[in-house]
Amino acid sequence: MRILVIEDEKKIASFIKRGLKENNYTVDVAFDGDKGLFLAEINPYDLIVLDIMLPGKDGLFICRELRKKNIGVPILILTARDDLEDKISGLDSGADDYLTKPFAFGEFLARVRALIRRKADVKTTRLKVADLELDQLTHRVRRAGREIELTRTEYALLEYMMLNANEVVTRTMISEHVWNEDFDSFSNVINVYVNYLRKKIDSGFEKKLIHSIRGTGYILREE
Ligand code: CA
Repeated sequence: MRILVIEDEKKIASFIKRGLKENNYTVDVAFDGDKGLFLAEINPYDLIVLDIMLPGKDGLFICRELRKKNIGVPILILTARDDLEDKISGLDSGADDYLTKPFAFGEFLARVRALIRRKADVKTTRLKVADLELDQLTHRVRRAGREIELTRTEYALLEYMMLNANEVVTRTMISEHVWNEDFDSFSNVINVYVNYLRKKIDSGFEKKLIHSIRGTGYILREE
């Protein structure tokens, strides 16, 4: 899951980025409103964390602008001011939730998970396809009850495929939701990681869960 953080306070931005990466999210950061809006318009993020007071375009403007363009990405507003007016205008501008700074990272993460879940129309933090289970709270992955160790990127890729189980995910979709702005679209890194995942998830099991769709991408499904 790929998240855009638009926050001009470098300390807070790097704190959020580090915490999200530790939780296997892919993160892009913009330190001003203009860059933030630009990135939000060109990339299909799974969530945007948006500060209100920003150099360049402010958070409320960005929110309204994205909604005007029918970009329905979940938006979590961060506000330094514990001001009811701010929260109301934030939600009225099209934000989905807000959090007042300073905040506990645990609460921030829970809201991030809830917003992404709502968008994926998933009601639980335990994703399950056949006998493959992924727990978004503990990041533990099991197949047939046996624990599987995954790297950060492998986990992010599997989580994305499980949230979209039974649907074809194209290489473009994967590159846009699992990798960040630094992704090199000419590399074969996606194939490489899908193969790593296959070795860990499917190898040794009669029933394969990861299937290739020739020329398009992959599908995770029971049959
Ligand atoms: Ca700010």
